[in-house]
Amino acid sequence: MTRYAVTGCAGFIGSHLTEALLDRGHEVVGVDSFTAYYARERKESNLSSIRDAAGFTLIEDDLSTRPLMPLLSGVDGVFHLAAQAGVRDSWGDGFVAYVRDNLHATQRVFQAAAESGVRVVFASSSSVYGDAESYPTHEDVRPLPLSPYGVTKLACEHLAQSYVAGMGLDVVGMRYFSVYGPRQRPDMAFQRVIAALLDGRPFPLLGTGRQVRDFTYVGDVVAATLSAMELGRPGRIYNVGGGSPTSLLDAIHICERITGRQAILDRRPVARGDARRTSADVSRIASELAWRPRTTLAEGLAVQVDWALRHADQLAASGA
Ligand code: NAD
Repeated sequence: MTRYAVTGCAGFIGSHLTEALLDRGHEVVGVDSFTAYYARERKESNLSSIRDAAGFTLIEDDLSTRPLMPLLSGVDGVFHLAAQAGVRDSWGDGFVAYVRDNLHATQRVFQAAAESGVRVVFASSSSVYGDAESYPTHEDVRPLPLSPYGVTKLACEHLAQSYVAGMGLDVVGMRYFSVYGPRQRPDMAFQRVIAALLDGRPFPLLGTGRQVRDFTYVGDVVAATLSAMELGRPGRIYNVGGGSPTSLLDAIHICERITGRQAILDRRPVARGDARRTSADVSRIASELAWRPRTTLAEGLAVQVDWALRHADQLAASGA
């Protein structure tokens, strides 16, 4: 049995990853501070199937302040997913939380992991690319983030390289591309589209809807992240993309077909910091980690809609 720490375990992706580790018979020490970015009830619900599982310990605390060495004692690897996610709130006064929960918390995790000699697999983002110089975008393309959020994620990647060079940290970074599926964060597009369709409410569409994203199903993201812990090359960064970039409008049409309802689009100006297009070159992760995306957008959205239908009351109560 192996014992892992998962930061951000109550979040969207972290809760799926924790579940997968427990299913494989591992022990998990989960850490989450239940930030107020979205409702605590949503995060409690994310944990509902694992909270009482044998082998799971939940520590509610803030990575930017709590002593981390005791947390890593007896741990074989750290999955560091905790962060202040989301592009739009990273402007203005919101930036303080991004510096604390992304940069400072990550520096503390890297420091403690380096001192403990423990591997870290951490979540970066396609946001580091901005409007990339080429598509599909290879990891070696120069990152040029368009948002303060993307800047903090890129800074975490640079920090990782500093800890590799200065303290011999064993670290692998994962650039996730627009992750979706059950428990998706309530600020993310599909969750809002599906909720609007099911309630017959207008969906505030930011921009033309022609922005293209390499949407990636959460189960595929979990598989990539597990492979990175096992097989990832030290110091490497990997793209984790769904493989069929799709415009937001086309994705909305898929949701319409699945729900049998027509979306009411409330057109709004484009959001600051949103890239026009993302598209992952996944040749590196395919050859080094034998990973490829397995879930088509239509399949993954059908699962997300089904989940949203089964949790409709709860989602409405927590403002999703
Ligand atoms: P999420 O907000 O659902 O989960 C993040 C969790 O981290 C939250 O539960 C939050 O309470 C916790 N957290 C934040 N700051 C903390 C701190 N200082 N100490 C302890 N816990 C803290 O977000 P998510 O969508 O699951 O994203 C997970 C990771 O993947 C993040 O690093 C995010 O930047 C990255 N990512 C996500 C996507 C996506 O499409 N969802 C895309 C690219 C990258």
